[in-house]
Amino acid sequence: MPLRLLCGTLRRTAAAAAAAAAAAGGRRRLGSGAGPRSARGAPDFSSFVARTNTCGELRSAHVGQKVTLYGWIQYQRQGLFLVLRDFQGLTQIIIPQDEARSHVKELLSSAPVESVVRVTGVVSLRPPGQENPKMPTGDIEVKVETAEVLNSCKKLPFEIKDFIKKSEALRMQYRYLDLRSFQLQYNLRLRSQIVMRMREYLCNLHGFVDVETPTLFKRTPGGAKEFLVPSREAGKFYSLPQSPQQFKQLLMVGGLDRYFQVARCYRDEGSRPDRQPEFTQIDIEMSFVDQNGIQRLIEGLLQYSWPEDRSPVTTPFPSMTYEEALADYGTDKPDTRFGMKIVDISDFSQRLGIHFVQNALSYPHGTVKAICIPQGMRYLRNKDFESLKEAARSQFNQEIVDIICRPDGSLKSLLTKFLGQEQQSELIQELKMQVDDVVLLAAGEHKRVCSALGSLRLESADLLEAAGLVLRDPAVFHFLWVVDFPLFLPKEDNPTELESAHHPFTAPHPSDTSLLYSDPTKVRSQHYDLVLNGSEVGGGSIRIHNAELQRFVLEKVLKEDSEVLSHLLDALEFGAPPHGGIALGLDRLISLIVGAQSIRDVIAFPKSFRGRDLMGNAPDYVTAEELEPYHIQVSWPVAEAEAKKN
Ligand code: ASP
Repeated sequence: MPLRLLCGTLRRTAAAAAAAAAAAGGRRRLGSGAGPRSARGAPDFSSFVARTNTCGELRSAHVGQKVTLYGWIQYQRQGLFLVLRDFQGLTQIIIPQDEARSHVKELLSSAPVESVVRVTGVVSLRPPGQENPKMPTGDIEVKVETAEVLNSCKKLPFEIKDFIKKSEALRMQYRYLDLRSFQLQYNLRLRSQIVMRMREYLCNLHGFVDVETPTLFKRTPGGAKEFLVPSREAGKFYSLPQSPQQFKQLLMVGGLDRYFQVARCYRDEGSRPDRQPEFTQIDIEMSFVDQNGIQRLIEGLLQYSWPEDRSPVTTPFPSMTYEEALADYGTDKPDTRFGMKIVDISDFSQRLGIHFVQNALSYPHGTVKAICIPQGMRYLRNKDFESLKEAARSQFNQEIVDIICRPDGSLKSLLTKFLGQEQQSELIQELKMQVDDVVLLAAGEHKRVCSALGSLRLESADLLEAAGLVLRDPAVFHFLWVVDFPLFLPKEDNPTELESAHHPFTAPHPSDTSLLYSDPTKVRSQHYDLVLNGSEVGGGSIRIHNAELQRFVLEKVLKEDSEVLSHLLDALEFGAPPHGGIALGLDRLISLIVGAQSIRDVIAFPKSFRGRDLMGNAPDYVTAEELEPYHIQVSWPVAEAEAKKN
């Protein structure tokens, strides 16, 4: 049976198991068990249409009933039977063999796979021994009496089966076919149910108001690059907002008190892996709230909307400061599902008298740190260690020294020639090394050392997992708050200037406000990020609601032209309430819940890596006449552009 093949070949991840269950047609029905349960019970999937049941619904209790099913032909065998598929599952359909219904046989056995058909017939038990326990409808089959081919399917570019490998470009070009797969059906339906539960929680349980904010706005300072949209006023452009940030704050000034929106956001960041130029946020803002209030709200929201068949989330989520995250994990989005934390051995190293170590420690922010790869010698090869060291060199300009604990307990490393027997034992103790462990050690500037070791920690985990160890179970969910970020960070391209770590509207930590005027680099902020399994899934802050402070931050610290934000600065002077908020990245959150390889797998019509719609071929050329009202000319001849189009 193709179904058995389908079930057997899927990867055994949580998502694949879910998809297999969905493919099996209702063991974990999308209408009920797969996602958060609807407040009013399972929906009626056959209301308003002529079908009596879906293809995932029929059981032995239906035996004897006359039913009408609509679906796509998944498989057809020698004019004897076919498997009909819809969003909910698969049903075996027995093709009549008697003379009187030869036209039905002719119709169904000649219809190509993926043709869409109606069948009407009687539900009967499968003959003994022919039941399929892997299929929820596996006890029954439908004996067809009448059938109709509603639309035939031409030759397919790829088979609609999850286990068939196809390139992502082809999947995107024929996205409407890819959407027929159980995996994508599952992902999109689960997404819809989670969003529904979020709406219930926010609006019905906590009085939030769902407000749509404009997507045509103007360019504003800071943050990601925005897409421009031409206007009919010469030289003037709209901008697509990278988030509804200003509007949600203005809604608070407008007394809306609690706002939320399933908001479409746009960022023109070029090709970045697993980013989309348009994406969706669950965008939230509240008046009279503090950081703790927002955090408890989000924990409640996630708990309420969390799918019942995933391992439950427990609240409150643990919390870690930005400094701790950087020191222990080398990143502001630590994956806390596994150990291998960064260990500081500066004090210990100070005593060793090794020249390059002493040298590193003599600089400001100099440090010596290490990570220990447990059982590294058993699972990794020499070339793995070489590639780890090379990655640290090329990405972080950081040298790494490895230390191996041999089976006899002695150390192998270029450091050993500087160390006596006693010091080697001390080092083993300091790093808690066991036989076959491998330590990667780095000496240098704090941030660089932490970032390099943080990255090596993740790469080593990849290597260990490729060798068969499970360190990061995708079915386990580790939420984490990261707090106490610096308010400003040095700009990447010009470290003498500052930029906001979150965005320019973020309020300073109350105990650091005075530092703003003396040493802004030392100010911590009221910015919080939500991290799930090493990915940032949300971020927000308590906002500046004082116009004078906001103007100071924009003009004096960030050196921005505050005039572009005069509407917001103005609004803050009209009795703006204290307020704060957060945005959850819906695409990433759902992709982690379903264990998808990419956020594209939870978006119905995603863009390619280069930001293109491969199905409709967007962006596309327009003619000179179409550009005229916008006072725009393409610098290379439009004629040439049009020629390219054809
Ligand atoms: N607008 C912010 C963002 O998109 C979230 C927030 O501060 O609420 O990251």
